[in-house]
Amino acid sequence: MIVTAKIEEVRAVRKQDKDENWGFVPTMGYLHEGHLSLVRRAREENGRVAVSIYVNPTQFAPTEDLASYPRDLERDLALLEAENVDLVFTPSDEMMYPPDFQTAVLLSHVTKPLEGAARPTHFAGVATVVAKLFNIVQPDRAYFGQKDAQQTVVLRQMVRDLNFNLELIVCPIVREPDGLAMSSRNKYLNPDERKAALVLSRALQWARIAFEEGERDANTLRRIMTDLIIAEPLARLAYVSAAHPETLVELERIEDKALLSMAVFIGKTRLIDNLIIA
Ligand code: AMP
Repeated sequence: MIVTAKIEEVRAVRKQDKDENWGFVPTMGYLHEGHLSLVRRAREENGRVAVSIYVNPTQFAPTEDLASYPRDLERDLALLEAENVDLVFTPSDEMMYPPDFQTAVLLSHVTKPLEGAARPTHFAGVATVVAKLFNIVQPDRAYFGQKDAQQTVVLRQMVRDLNFNLELIVCPIVREPDGLAMSSRNKYLNPDERKAALVLSRALQWARIAFEEGERDANTLRRIMTDLIIAEPLARLAYVSAAHPETLVELERIEDKALLSMAVFIGKTRLIDNLIIA
């Protein structure tokens, strides 16, 4: 496994191996089974696999957890080595954003609601860094988790709009046995908060059951999720949504599919979760 912080070295490896298909998994590190499910899928579908580990500062607002975001490069590299990853790219901030850096990738619509409403600069940071990583690694396939549902919609749109020559593949959410969606940020939760955090997946399941029993009114589904979350004393609701899975526009009635999603503070930790119902 080659581990490098150098763009030229990534390009050199990519050039040597240009007849192989490359699968690419961008991450911010502190890897868990959710990340590894993406790596395994990439491993199955490609001759070569690259992973990036980079906590991208431009997708964090000044009030967010950039400084405290968990990091453990040594452990991450051991996990990736065990998955037979070929190349790990670990760039520095100086290389990704030299002092004269001035470009951003901005999307006009799908970045606005949900996470974008609460985090107005987040998706510009995500789209810009992923565009850079795509240009550096030049993968044939790139793997992202459904956990960050809006991110997959934003990046799919970017790939289409900017004609990136790759296939974007979305992998299912990996959960803890009790239903909590795996996240590097779960580390912030104390034992009481960890229990309270189950309210996210539980709310999604309650809405799903109502949908399966015939409920098609989106307001009712949003209400079911909201009521459950506000009943949890350690939880503070940021938003719940029942939206069109591609446009992310809030629905009135669910005719076909819907993306149920939410952001909830458990103590100081902001967690997200989602479920597509159809
Ligand atoms: P992050 O390191 O949080 O930027 O995540 C890197 C990639 O892993 C993103 O595509 C995430 O959506 C994906 N990911 C994170 N958590 C999970 C999970 N629990 N299940 C599936 N994919 C995940």
